[in-house]
Amino acid sequence: LKTIHRIEDLVYEPGISVGFVPTMGAFHEGHLSLMRTAKQENDVCVVSLFVNPTQFGPKEDFSRYPRDLERDRRLAGEAGADILFAPDVATMYPDGFATKISVSGVTERWEGALRPGHFDGVATVVNRLFGIVRPHCAYFGLKDLQQCRVIDRMVRDLNMPVALMFLETYREQDGLAMSSRNVYLTPEERKIAPLLFETLRVSRQAVRDGYPVDQVLDQARSRLRDAGFLVDYFEHVLLDDLRPIDHLERPTALIVAAKLGIPRLLDNIVI
Ligand code: AMP
Repeated sequence: LKTIHRIEDLVYEPGISVGFVPTMGAFHEGHLSLMRTAKQENDVCVVSLFVNPTQFGPKEDFSRYPRDLERDRRLAGEAGADILFAPDVATMYPDGFATKISVSGVTERWEGALRPGHFDGVATVVNRLFGIVRPHCAYFGLKDLQQCRVIDRMVRDLNMPVALMFLETYREQDGLAMSSRNVYLTPEERKIAPLLFETLRVSRQAVRDGYPVDQVLDQARSRLRDAGFLVDYFEHVLLDDLRPIDHLERPTALIVAAKLGIPRLLDNIVI
């Protein structure tokens, strides 16, 4: 694995296909599965590691986001990554940087509404990373479902010459979606956390069985609140643009964001 910090050092041999995995580091199996797939499907796997300040709100965890470059280097290498691109903030946002990518529509609700500016930060940094890395294929995790839809919209709207791959959420044995922020859970909270996915599964079954969606959602929210979650949303949405929907018209998904202690946990399940 070659670690590079400067844009000029990102050079490829002619004719090779580049698979790209953008990340903020603190790797877990979810990241590593994206890297393994990128390596399988391309000649070269490039991973970027950049904790992007512009996608964090002023009261969010940018400064205490987990960082461990040495550990991440080792794990990425083991997963088959060829190049780890780890720029600093001045490299990504040099003096005079003035462009912002703002995707409307799909960003209006959920994470977009609760975290103003978040998806502008994501779209802008991913756009810049695509320009730097020039990937043929880029890999994203469906755990961040709304993010996948935002990137997809941007790539289609701007005719970016990159194929997007969205991969299944990687989970712990007990169903908890892997996330760099899970380290903030206390041992007690860690025991409660799998209830998030469990509730998604039970609710999916209830919707499939024909129970009224509103009732299913209400029950899911109460169940999570009773267990100690602060529920930001638990909703039934169209998979395509994440608009809320109150009947079963596939493809749809259940999406949830809830705080448990310090971390905010996100998860979703396709119906
Ligand atoms: P992050 O470092 O949190 O920005 O995530 C980098 C990429 O890994 C994003 O495309 C995420 O959607 C993806 N990712 C995060 N958690 C998981 C997971 N549990 N399973 C699969 N992909 C994931």
